[in-house]
Amino acid sequence: MQTQTLTLLPPAPGTEHRLTVLRFGAPGGGRRAYIQAALHADEVPALLVAQALRRQLQALEDAGSMLGEVLLVPYANPQGLAQHVLDQHQGRFDLRDGVNFNRGYGELADSAAAALQGRLGADAAANQALIRTALRAAAERLPAEHTAQDLKRRLLQLAVDCDIVLDLHCDSQAVLHLYALTPQAGLAAELGALLGAQAVLLATESGDSPFDEACSRPWLQLQQRFADAAVPLGCFAVTVELRGEADTDHALAEGDAAAIVEFLRRRGLVAGAPAPLPKALCEPTPLAGSEPVNAPHAGVVVFRAQPGDRVDAGAAIADLVDIDSGQATTLCAQSAGVLYARSRTRWATPGARLAKIAGTTLRRSGKLLSP
Ligand SMILES: [Zn+2]
Repeated sequence: MQTQTLTLLPPAPGTEHRLTVLRFGAPGGGRRAYIQAALHADEVPALLVAQALRRQLQALEDAGSMLGEVLLVPYANPQGLAQHVLDQHQGRFDLRDGVNFNRGYGELADSAAAALQGRLGADAAANQALIRTALRAAAERLPAEHTAQDLKRRLLQLAVDCDIVLDLHCDSQAVLHLYALTPQAGLAAELGALLGAQAVLLATESGDSPFDEACSRPWLQLQQRFADAAVPLGCFAVTVELRGEADTDHALAEGDAAAIVEFLRRRGLVAGAPAPLPKALCEPTPLAGSEPVNAPHAGVVVFRAQPGDRVDAGAAIADLVDIDSGQATTLCAQSAGVLYARSRTRWATPGARLAKIAGTTLRRSGKLLSP
């Protein structure tokens, strides 16, 4: 294992944040995977899975079983790790300006396309190499005017030319679920089966450029832009939600890491015959069909459904008790599906998102992710 340290643009004299990159296997030649943990810095289960991955990848490297290269960033947001306000960890938004650490990544397709004009042909492998060079160059040109922007630029630069990008997060209270690009449903379903995902949510554009889409979407855009050339989808990028924020468990973390290693084996980065694929616990569904259950007014939340429950349209999800009238409003599902995540708060403000259901009947448009 090689360790690389990147120092971010400091927020003030005398203060600095450092990114650590652990590199396993041999660079050059083989396939490359990039895995980062806790981009939202308070999503702690991802940090534990990264430690299990570090041990498992080191053992594979020691045994001579690494066929490709794996880059592991065991904590992707050192800036957010240090953000505490009144004893509460605030790892989702940059306290400087309120911007989500997983939004606003550089959209590289236009810049790469300008460099690729007239150069792509019928050879998909040659095109892939040219596109990776163009994406690397485009990522090098991204601005870094403050610490979080520098963090986003560095993370994208590390990941943008990899075959596989796994962005490890968690939700508030949740079962394991994934977000991926619609045309990569097959790979997402395979990873989902290995991890025991209970929802796999697909979109071609979720809105506001999250990290995974900044890696995978340029390939789709270049495929459309250069329709006469053979342009592969050269990067499979996925957001892995490792259950709820309180779900730190050694056995779960070892199992999740083993599932990720098995996915890398199936993709040719790790030696050995793959085990049979476990039976999937769900079919991929459109992110546009994911139903947010929102609070219509303030009140005390009493949930009537658990993460992982399969609910029918009309099923009660939660009661919301008004503390002026004493009346309870029952919030019901509009669509059938799996309740894959719910809020940990039991006091709702008007409009608060209390639960999410992976359904198939809704057709939401616009920005599809939580703020
Ligand atoms: Zn997150």
